[in-house]
Amino acid sequence: DFLDEVAPSRLDKIAVTDINSMTGRKNSISYRQLLQTSKRIALGLISLGVERGDVVSYQMPNWWEFVALHLACLHVGAVTNPVMPIFRHRELSFMLGLAETKVMIVPQNWRGFDHLAMVREIQPNLPKLEHVFALGGSGDASFEKYFLERRWEQETPDAEKMLKARRMQPNEIMELLYTSGTTGEPKGALHTPNTHIANLMQIVRRFNLTGDHVFFMPSPMAHQTGFLVGMELPLALGGKMVLQDIWDAEVGLGRIQDEGVNFMMAATPFMADLTDHPALPKYDISTFEFFISAGAPIPRALVQRATERLQAHIISAYGMTENLIVTSTRLEDQPEKVFGTDGTAMPGMELRIVDHAGKVLGVDEEGQIESRGPGQFVGYLKRPEKFDTDAEGWFKTGDLGKLDADGYVRITGRAKDIIIRGGENIPVVEVEQLLHKHPAIQVAAVVGVPDARLGERAAAYVLLRTGSSFTMEEMRRFLEDNGMAKQYWPEFLAVSEALPSTPSGKVQKFRLREMAKEQFK
Ligand code: ATP
Ligand code: MG
Repeated sequence: DFLDEVAPSRLDKIAVTDINSMTGRKNSISYRQLLQTSKRIALGLISLGVERGDVVSYQMPNWWEFVALHLACLHVGAVTNPVMPIFRHRELSFMLGLAETKVMIVPQNWRGFDHLAMVREIQPNLPKLEHVFALGGSGDASFEKYFLERRWEQETPDAEKMLKARRMQPNEIMELLYTSGTTGEPKGALHTPNTHIANLMQIVRRFNLTGDHVFFMPSPMAHQTGFLVGMELPLALGGKMVLQDIWDAEVGLGRIQDEGVNFMMAATPFMADLTDHPALPKYDISTFEFFISAGAPIPRALVQRATERLQAHIISAYGMTENLIVTSTRLEDQPEKVFGTDGTAMPGMELRIVDHAGKVLGVDEEGQIESRGPGQFVGYLKRPEKFDTDAEGWFKTGDLGKLDADGYVRITGRAKDIIIRGGENIPVVEVEQLLHKHPAIQVAAVVGVPDARLGERAAAYVLLRTGSSFTMEEMRRFLEDNGMAKQYWPEFLAVSEALPSTPSGKVQKFRLREMAKEQFK
């Protein structure tokens, strides 16, 4: 598992380097320090009465303590539950309540917000929440004082033996991670060490990764991408992880240059920010080898631009909190696949496309994607009715797609996001992909607006590049010039300053639909 894999020769290598924007400190932590600290935290948790299977939640930016806390939970046999730093009273009450969190750890003051005070306010409604600590906090609530400054390993008799006995087993619940809440209320996906390690091995094999690679993670580790690929992947290999807690593309370019970063995975807004940054030529990012993106439809035009400007393999992947990375393009793929598809199933994963009746469809037929394989989650917390998995293990992803004759998938949308105009399905993702090719457009999102006559009409929300303009007239002309059938053209256009999105960078269409309903009635 993740606690034993570090070879003795790597113990004194850097495991994590971060820059903490709360304290202004840069930290570089070796594997030896990380393992020692995580044991100390584990003994601290045990001293609080944390039992095997109890939930430890933490709302923490991408700091090294995040990693130490996760490892501590593995030592204790506790369930790790990271939650996004951006969440407030409403989201946390729901998430910690459902999780029955026993211990919660937050930053004292992060980006001008007092997290400790927030948790204290909701604590009366969370009867299972016994202990709250804050990084950078004072008095009894200080995380540093309780967990890091006390010598728990000396204070605890038989500490090593105790930790060995408590340690997380391969098929126990290791991680409780809420889905992004793109389509509605987040669901608590449950994973074990086995599900994560199976997917990690597939990733390592597909991209020939080693412990000598340097991994960069600026997207929140409280999302599955950051957790799995930003933290666990380097941990499993004994490689170095470079963390960034607040996204800033130029700071990111500096980190890539200075740390010699080889590998990064994040949603496409991060890719766009790096690719289109005016300061890009100032930085030597020649070590940069891989950028993997997933999480939302990937603009093909951006993949092409990024390949040229970042001089790296730009990999499109498809995945989800529940089944981890399901497909990706490969290093040896032909350009038409790299720039036109979301890749093939990871080794050991299977995919199929089914229609409404559950009939398996053929090549190039659009339907719902089902997947199964060793990276699959084991269920949703307290929501068995949502665990859409049949007796043979096929999970209904809720996504629409097509498979080509070579087994490459194209994600065509979400089942919940389809727009039916006058009985005809509008190919939402195709329209968005085309709009992304327009030089004025940075992000395009198309949603349905209820219509008394046609059922629904399409509305396009666009975010423009600085200094650009875009009108309905231009949109029509552009779609026409690019051969898109008229019945698919959006009939409303809104140029926006910002689109409602999740902390991991996905446009929340359900919010956009609510906006469109008001704006275009
Ligand atoms: P929720 O389930 O709470 O609505 P979510 O599905 O966005 O949120 P995640 O598990 O973070 O939560 O995201 C997985 C989803 O992201 C996939 O089911 C799919 O809809 C979308 N996605 C992932 N990769 C791609 C891709 N390459 N192209 C299009 N969509 C993608
Ligand atoms: Mg989902």
